[in-house]
Amino acid sequence: MAQIELERLTKVYPDGTRAVKALDLEIPDGEFMVLVGPSGCGKTTALRMVAGLEAITEGVVRIGGRVVNDLPPKGRDIAMVFQNYALYPHMSAYKNMAFGLKMRNLDRGEIGRRVRDAARVLGLEDVLSKKPRTLSGGQRQRVAMGRAIVREPLAFLMDEPLSNLDAKLRVEMRAEIARIQRNLEVTTIYVTHDQVEAMTLGDRVAVMRDGVLQQVDRPQGLYDRPANLFVAEFIGSPAMNLVGADVERSDGGMSVQFGENRLLLDDQTLADRPALRRFEGKRIIVGIRPDDLEDASLVPGAPDDRRLSAVVDIREDMGSEVFVHFGVDAPPVRGEDVAAAIGAEAIEATAAQAREKGSLFVARLGRETTAREDERVELLVDTRRLHFFDTETGSGIYDEA
Ligand code: ATP
Repeated sequence: MAQIELERLTKVYPDGTRAVKALDLEIPDGEFMVLVGPSGCGKTTALRMVAGLEAITEGVVRIGGRVVNDLPPKGRDIAMVFQNYALYPHMSAYKNMAFGLKMRNLDRGEIGRRVRDAARVLGLEDVLSKKPRTLSGGQRQRVAMGRAIVREPLAFLMDEPLSNLDAKLRVEMRAEIARIQRNLEVTTIYVTHDQVEAMTLGDRVAVMRDGVLQQVDRPQGLYDRPANLFVAEFIGSPAMNLVGADVERSDGGMSVQFGENRLLLDDQTLADRPALRRFEGKRIIVGIRPDDLEDASLVPGAPDDRRLSAVVDIREDMGSEVFVHFGVDAPPVRGEDVAAAIGAEAIEATAAQAREKGSLFVARLGRETTAREDERVELLVDTRRLHFFDTETGSGIYDEA
């Protein structure tokens, strides 16, 4: 087991593409670190540099305190699990797992012990004699994991290992990978573009964009205190609602105003984000998570100064909850990079509706809500959980510099 350190890790491909830019990351022994970001953000390139499959342009990779920049993959004592986990079709599950060890001339007893141990951890004991084509997708994926586990490496590197599985199996295997990693306590770097996978698997999650690390934190930290607009929109589903708003002084306190809505900020909100006072009289970007809105008619004594009033566009009944979409008469905010991340079609749809209705918001309400399409609804905002961003830099507004 080992700590992995990346120091100013940089990759420039021969054609001049700067895929990874001065990436600093420390992954303590036993940690499950997820690299997440939209396609092309450089996460695979970063992982391949750690593995030794891609030459490092600049910077340092250390595994277990040792600089491995010039070591070939074999010398780094790590095991990789890829999306395309080619198993040998003519070999049984047992032989597929044992193969790498045999090549390294381990004795038969030791090979047997390791394969059986891994099979037990992975729940593969009953299928060890089967060939890959007679295994289910999940079992094949487990055999691929088994191949990595039997090597008893210093670290696991995984690149989208679940993306070839169907949705249900992916959720099952996700839980499985989390369980196995926790049992084995092997340092792991896991690459995915799926923020849900990142949030559910990672001890910590590193969000990348365009080769640059945006933020690294525990999943809850990313959700509660996103460093910038990109992280705010990338993490969480449905995505955070964002709108341009003015910070104003009112009744001795402060409030944010957008369209016809004004939300009063209480002392605690301001105490948690002292830097906000500097923005008095200025335009900022306010973020409201869909979960931080409630149907005010169901909350006795819901204060008037913490509400949005809106006409419901679309009501989606999800069973345990209800998504309510509505327009807010204020300028929409959507970063270009986020646009790339969520796809051109979604952006076009958003833009078209925004022209008509201003910003489009989503609220995630309890199923008791009586909100109806084309009718007005009053939504109570949990103002302590509001998010604030600097319009110029896109950075979250938190502490005084
Ligand atoms: P994905 O999820 O789509 O795999 P990623 O975040 O893993 O994306 P990388 O595969 O690391 O991203 O690619 C980062 C950038 O480097 C992209 O702009 C990509 O086009 C570029 N790139 C990758 N491999 C090469 C290469 N061999 N030569 C030139 N550019 C490359």
